[in-house]
Amino acid sequence: MQIISKLPNVGTTIFTTMSALARQHQAINLSQGFPDFNCHPHLVELANQFIQQGFNQYAPMPGTIELRERVAEIIQSTYNHIYHPDTDITITAGATQAIYTTMAAFIHPGDEVIVIEPAYDCYVPAIELHGGIAVYSQLNPNNFCINWQDVRSKITPKTKAILINSPHNPSGACITAQDLIELQNIITGTNILIISDEVYEHMVFDQQMHQSIARNKTLAQQAIIVSSFGKTIHTTGWKIGYVAAPAHIMAEFRKVHQFLVFAVNHPLQLAIAKFLENADNYQGLHEFYQQKRDRFLQLTKGSRLIPLQCQGTYFQLMSYKNISQQKDTELAIEWTKEKKLAAIPLSVFYKNQIDNKILRFCFAKKDETLEKAADIIQRL
Ligand code: PMP
Ligand code: GLN
Repeated sequence: MQIISKLPNVGTTIFTTMSALARQHQAINLSQGFPDFNCHPHLVELANQFIQQGFNQYAPMPGTIELRERVAEIIQSTYNHIYHPDTDITITAGATQAIYTTMAAFIHPGDEVIVIEPAYDCYVPAIELHGGIAVYSQLNPNNFCINWQDVRSKITPKTKAILINSPHNPSGACITAQDLIELQNIITGTNILIISDEVYEHMVFDQQMHQSIARNKTLAQQAIIVSSFGKTIHTTGWKIGYVAAPAHIMAEFRKVHQFLVFAVNHPLQLAIAKFLENADNYQGLHEFYQQKRDRFLQLTKGSRLIPLQCQGTYFQLMSYKNISQQKDTELAIEWTKEKKLAAIPLSVFYKNQIDNKILRFCFAKKDETLEKAADIIQRL
C-alpha cells in the first residue's frame, strides 16, 4: 500500500531519540526535559484517593470545574487577570495537545504563523498539518531576545498567529515587560492571534517576574495561553495542562477539543486541583529550580564548557566551542555513547539546523545525578 506522508520530512523527536540512546548506553540523561525525582507524596495520595472514591468515568468536556476554578484563581492572583472558569479555561491532555488543538481550530490552509526560532519541536508540524505556513523569526543568537523589528517585517495579510514561548525552551530566556509592549504595538488593530506557550511559567529566576500575556489586558484579549502541570508539579507523565483565552476564542478551541480528546483524565484533575489549593506547591518552584541551576553551574565551573545565561525553565545551554568543532548532533551522540552523558543539540530547534556548537542540559535532576554529570563534564 502506498502512503503519501503528511509529514515527509519528520522523523522521531530528538527527545525520544536521545533518551533511548542514553538508556541503551547507560548514560546520565540530561537530554529530554523531565525530573528524575518523584512528585510530592501528598499528590500521589490525592490521586489514589480520587481513584478509590470512584472518579473513574469521563470528566466534563472542558475539564473539572474544581481544576478550572483553581487555574482561574492562580492566574488572577499571579497575573491579575480574570478568566472565567466556565467559558475561558479548558483542561487539556498536556501542552502538546493544547497547541495542536489551537492550530486545528484556528489555522486555515495558506495561513501564516510566525514562529520564533529556535522553536520547540511540536509547533511547526501542528501548523503544517493544518495547511498553515510557518514563517520564522530568529532570536538574537547571543542573548536569545526577540527581534521585534524582524517579527514586524514578517507580518503579511496572511498572518493568522504569532507563537511565542517564555520562559523559552531551549534557551531559558524570558521576555520582559518591554517585549509585551512591542508585541502589543504589532498586534493592535489586527486580527492576529497570539499563541503563548507558558509551560515554564513558575520557573523564572533571579527575582524576575514571569511576563505572562495575561498581565497585559490588550494582549490577553487576542491570546490563547497554554500551560502544563507536568512542569509545575513534577508530573510530565500525567500529560495534563490547560489553555486560557477569552470566551469567543475558547468556544472555537472547544469545538475541536471535544472531538480530539473529548475529556482529560478525571481523578488526576481532581488531585491536581486539591494539591494546588496550597500555593506553596507552585510558588516555591522557581527557588527550587534556581538552586538546581546554581548547583549545576557551581559543579561544572572551571570545565571547558561555557554556560550561557539561563533566566528560567529547567534547561542550561552550554557552548562546547573550546572542546570540539564537531557538529552538535554528532557530538551529542558521541558523548552519550562514549562519555556516558546525554544532552540535546541546539541545532534541531532551527529549521536550517544552525549549529552554534551549543548543547542543552536539563537540570531537573536529583543532586546526585547532577554531581555525576558534572564529574563527566569536568573531564571533557
Ligand atoms: N511547550 C514547551 C516549550 C515544552 O518544553 C513542552 C515539553 N515539555 C511542551 C510544550 C509540551 O508539554 P506537555 O508535556 O504538557 O505536552
Ligand atoms: N519538553 C521536553 C523537552 O524539551 C520534552 C517533551 C517530549 O519529549 N515531548 O525536553
